[in-house]
Amino acid sequence: MGIVQTIAAVVLAISLMTFVIFFGRLPVFRRTPIAWLYNFFVVHVPNAILAIDRRTTGGRFTASLVRFGHFMMNDKHPTVLVFFLLLLAGSEYMAVPTAWGLLSGLQRFTVAVFCTLPYVFLYLAAYSDPGTVSMSSLKHHMMLYPYDYALFQPGVRCHTCNLLKPPRSKHCPICKRCVGRLDHHCIFINNCVGVGNHHWFLLLILSTAVLASYGGWLASSLVGQQVQERFPNWSLLPWRARDSGQPMSWSTWLILLSWGLKNHVQLGSIGLLGLLISPLIWGLLVYSMWNVWTGQTTNESLKWSDWKCDMEDGYVYKRRMSHERRLSMVAAPGVPASGTRWPVEAEHVLYCAHDGTPPAQNDKTLAGVGEWEKVYSLHDVENIYDLGFWNNLKDIFVPNYQFNTLGLPPVERRGRPRKRTARK
Ligand SMILES: [Zn+2]
Ligand SMILES: [Zn+2]
Repeated sequence: MGIVQTIAAVVLAISLMTFVIFFGRLPVFRRTPIAWLYNFFVVHVPNAILAIDRRTTGGRFTASLVRFGHFMMNDKHPTVLVFFLLLLAGSEYMAVPTAWGLLSGLQRFTVAVFCTLPYVFLYLAAYSDPGTVSMSSLKHHMMLYPYDYALFQPGVRCHTCNLLKPPRSKHCPICKRCVGRLDHHCIFINNCVGVGNHHWFLLLILSTAVLASYGGWLASSLVGQQVQERFPNWSLLPWRARDSGQPMSWSTWLILLSWGLKNHVQLGSIGLLGLLISPLIWGLLVYSMWNVWTGQTTNESLKWSDWKCDMEDGYVYKRRMSHERRLSMVAAPGVPASGTRWPVEAEHVLYCAHDGTPPAQNDKTLAGVGEWEKVYSLHDVENIYDLGFWNNLKDIFVPNYQFNTLGLPPVERRGRPRKRTARK
């Protein structure tokens, strides 16, 4: 019993900690135990350590720790990528040679393919250009998407790169460059996830999730087979109990399982690691696919979350975009009169009045025409970057896909309401 409990507890604790640290600050977890745990680990625990250190060493210990933490989180280095590679290679090294002799020909082939794919996608995600915006690529990035006059306004310059910011781009402070359709900077691949490598990143998560689940299931079932060979009655299912005809009790079942794990420690721990860690990776995939479904990047979902707060406070106004002006042409140098390759243009301009006073109707410095109306919820605004799941997926997987030849029906051309993408 001891060994099963210890392995399970350690793996479960590591999985939970990783989940909380990586996902705890996402808006979707606000006011949930995940966010409380995140605050506990990221705010309260460091503060307590800081207080103790001030009393004992005058703060020298934490100062060096902060420098190290800053280096780990804010500098570009492959430490986490190497850790990820070691975890992947170490688990395979522990499990594959032991299991190989027990596998059928088809299983050996599947294992070989599933073990190789994450390395291929990791290489492609880590070493592809995520879509760096430079003088020479600026025109290309301006042609990808129109400005939505909500999250992305024309004419804004990146202070560091001193280049105009193309729609959906963001400056990555770790890589010190602007990246087209930046989703986030990922420390596992030591690279940004952007318009150039988003598809490799999704395939990396998918292949790692498949490897963890399949590896976990295969290693555990091999341990199960070994136990069953030694104890033919080992099963919780009544119809599988061969001699006694009685279902086995949970405690006996677990004792015999721990015998199996003790005799096949390597396979057993990899099996448990795979099974416990795979929900985490599938969770990351589901979160990434949710963003594809709603047509937004992680960066945009954080921005929309801020807009939602401002809307609830009554600071947000919108008005009609003037169709007479080809604003995208004026705003984005290099974009021809026919527009970008995107089939939808902004229909409204959003404006946030932080002092609460509505903007003047005749304010010529602001885009759009007519009366400003107050916006109270995300339901009342549209996300022009959402063309529906399959088109959003196509946008990620087919580089520079020419959507404007799609011939979308007029209702789609007007953009879709954000209803489906609203976050509670
Ligand atoms: Zn920049
Ligand atoms: Zn980056």
